[in-house]
Amino acid sequence: MPQEEQTSVTRDSRSRDGQDDVRYDAHRIEAKWFERWQQEPLLYAAEPHSTKPKYYVLEMLPYPSGALHMGHVRNYAIGDALARYMWMNGYNVLHPMGWDSFGLPAENAAIQNHTPPRQWTLQNIAAMKAQMKLLGFGYDWSREVTTCLPDYYRWNQWFFIRLFEKGLAYRKKSLVNWCPKCCTVLANEQVVNGRCWRHEDTLVEQRELEQWFLRITNYSDELLRDLDRLPNWPEKVRTMQRNWIGRSEGTLVDFKLEGATDPATSTISVFTTRVDTIFGATSLQLAPQHPLVTRLTKHNDLLRTEVDQFIAEQRKAREVGDIGEIEKHGVNTGRFAVNPYNGEKVPIWVANYILMDYGTGAIMSVPAHDDRDYEFAKKYKLEIRLVILPLAQDPEETAVEPKLPFTTMQGTLVNSARFSGMDCEAAIKAMSEHAEKNGFGKATVTYRLKDWGISRQRYWGTPIPMLYCEKDGIVAVPEKDLPVILPENVDITLTGGSPLGRVPDFVNATCPKCGGPARRETDTMDTFVDSSWYFYRYTDARNDQVPFDPEKAGYWFGDHGIDQYIGGIEHAILHLIYSRFWTKFMRDMGLIKNDEPVERLFSQGMIIKGGAKMSKSLGNTVSPDDMMERYGADSARMYTLFATSPDRELDWLDEGVEGIERFLGRVYRFVARNASQASPDTQLGTPLAPEARQIQRKLHQTIKRVSDDFQGRWHFNTSIAAIMELVNELYAAEGRVGEARVVAGDSPPSLIPVPLLREVQRDLAILLEPFAPYLAHELWEMLGEKGSLLRAPWPKYDPALAKEEEIEIPVQINGKLRGRIVVPADAPEDVIHERALAEARIKATLNGKQIVKVIVVPNKLVNIVVR
Ligand SMILES: [Zn+2]
Ligand SMILES: [Zn+2]
Repeated sequence: MPQEEQTSVTRDSRSRDGQDDVRYDAHRIEAKWFERWQQEPLLYAAEPHSTKPKYYVLEMLPYPSGALHMGHVRNYAIGDALARYMWMNGYNVLHPMGWDSFGLPAENAAIQNHTPPRQWTLQNIAAMKAQMKLLGFGYDWSREVTTCLPDYYRWNQWFFIRLFEKGLAYRKKSLVNWCPKCCTVLANEQVVNGRCWRHEDTLVEQRELEQWFLRITNYSDELLRDLDRLPNWPEKVRTMQRNWIGRSEGTLVDFKLEGATDPATSTISVFTTRVDTIFGATSLQLAPQHPLVTRLTKHNDLLRTEVDQFIAEQRKAREVGDIGEIEKHGVNTGRFAVNPYNGEKVPIWVANYILMDYGTGAIMSVPAHDDRDYEFAKKYKLEIRLVILPLAQDPEETAVEPKLPFTTMQGTLVNSARFSGMDCEAAIKAMSEHAEKNGFGKATVTYRLKDWGISRQRYWGTPIPMLYCEKDGIVAVPEKDLPVILPENVDITLTGGSPLGRVPDFVNATCPKCGGPARRETDTMDTFVDSSWYFYRYTDARNDQVPFDPEKAGYWFGDHGIDQYIGGIEHAILHLIYSRFWTKFMRDMGLIKNDEPVERLFSQGMIIKGGAKMSKSLGNTVSPDDMMERYGADSARMYTLFATSPDRELDWLDEGVEGIERFLGRVYRFVARNASQASPDTQLGTPLAPEARQIQRKLHQTIKRVSDDFQGRWHFNTSIAAIMELVNELYAAEGRVGEARVVAGDSPPSLIPVPLLREVQRDLAILLEPFAPYLAHELWEMLGEKGSLLRAPWPKYDPALAKEEEIEIPVQINGKLRGRIVVPADAPEDVIHERALAEARIKATLNGKQIVKVIVVPNKLVNIVVR
């Protein structure tokens, strides 16, 4: 993409580029408009009662680290351009911003700098908010949401109690992921390749703890099904969510541990998608973390050593990335399980490739009909028993034995007692029913998605509003006592355990049921709770009676959710699954009507520099402050939209920003020289001289391209390039502007009429507004416009005026005229080439001949040489 097109500028006596009297001073212009906009608090405010159609555009709220990075600027520049476009198209726009302000970095900073997390966080928010304002982002700050403040997090607590009442929040002891660096529990979603999502170098440990969980799995089916109702989400995000939910249909079968003394612990549940092969099961394989394995190894040190080894191997495989590639090992426990279908005893093994977080952590091994089981059986010389034969091609012939493993479903059961002779599909159904009737299993659907563990042993988060009473057990804090305020001046150290547990004033409470002493829950909520519903709060951010007024949320969310949500692909799973769950729960509570929070989702590409991700350690970060200082806010944000299309990775070049600044300077100087001529009184006469027609055509084409990009693929880089071309045309024509006025009845003068000049400058200011709002407002004022540019109607293009002049070009074959094509004047060679070959008569003549060469003389002729 060119930074700025070359153009031939006619030099005449008037001032031209580079002269100081009309220097583009971005700082002066931006300071002036910044001041004015501060005086207009309602400029970007959504209207409370409006007859206009609504539009809710939202960028994901940032974590207040202290300074914006260019990735933020790109994200917000996209959303802001869209918001401005929608304002000018007559919509009532909601465009808010807030702060995802609980979380670990505030605590770490507190430890390092001895600054209380609240103070550190609020300072950072102030700094980033100032940056956003300087960048000219049009947010409705009256709706600002700060998740670490009690007026917000009290509603997390309110929701938690509702979830608890509905049985959707519960406490259980379980193996949890523990990050030794965070000193806290992580959700499954926060473990990436066995490592902490915040500490890529830290392996996650398994610990057994009592934790609060949210029953997101109650919605597994709906979360999966409704992905089909989100056609305006990136397919990649939907696929990631589908895989994360991980639905599979199969059968649960209970094997019995042979010789078990305690019937309560004698069942080994196995999940299989191929119960039709169960007569071929020659062993059970358990995950090394399976509870039975834990029991069996208690008095078996040899086995314990092996199992520990497997756990280490799994960890290592996760580190490398693909656990499926693990070299398979196993050990025979010496115990047996009984196959409930035939009473057969099969040996129980522990294997390193069985994962506790899939299915039940136990599988039946059927070597003849499964690749992995076959490999394992060969290695350990386990029996391989054929129970499925391929369907015979000819019913007269007996089926031949297949090459093993035979894994397809196109087969017939053999060696399977009363089920022999059935085809696989029918057998799965019959055998599942048989299990259910006899009480040892049933057809079932499993999900990879697990309940959401939300307890964190951290200070800087929402206190979980629960009490523990010796008499009454777990008791929710009464609603009138909310919020449970997070105490300040808490000693935060990473020695493990919840910091709130060391604050007696916080811990010691009174039971609301019996009035006796109670202990307060000292864990805080995962910060993903905060972001699961924050966008509803924007619709009614100052409500202190309920989280939000359902009517207000109903207006902005409608039936389909946020009209446009914009944020990084790194939130494809966590944030977006949790907030979809929260939406469904709030719908079931009757708070909202929409099933999904977001109708359209856009994930912008990353910004890199010098081929690498920007990072402090590489020293290749770019500071928005520095860019604003050097080139101005307009240039910095416009560059993030111009460098490439917003979905792609952007390789940062400072020279690119400089190029944008030069372009904006050209626009500024042109309007400075020509604004005064643009008298508003005259009407545009027709017909126009060819030069004027060319400008008019370019204007309408530009409006079309920019409008189409906003409504379609968001290739703002091509929008901006189109505006640049328009400006080049204006420069080329500048010497011939405005010396004559068109009077009705005159023959067209070969000049650019004044009304056209006025129209094009006015539209230019509007077209630039979404990308470079400061300059656009300055141009608007220079043109003598009185009303607010942000409310000026977006120009409509006239397809007839946008249409290229068309010309007819003869098409020859071997020098003989064979047809004609009609193409736009100055159509590029490849277009002419393609049209010539597609023309019906030419196509017919060419049929069967070999094309040697196609000669295109633009605007003149095409000659096709054939053999
Ligand atoms: Zn960590
Ligand atoms: Zn009590």
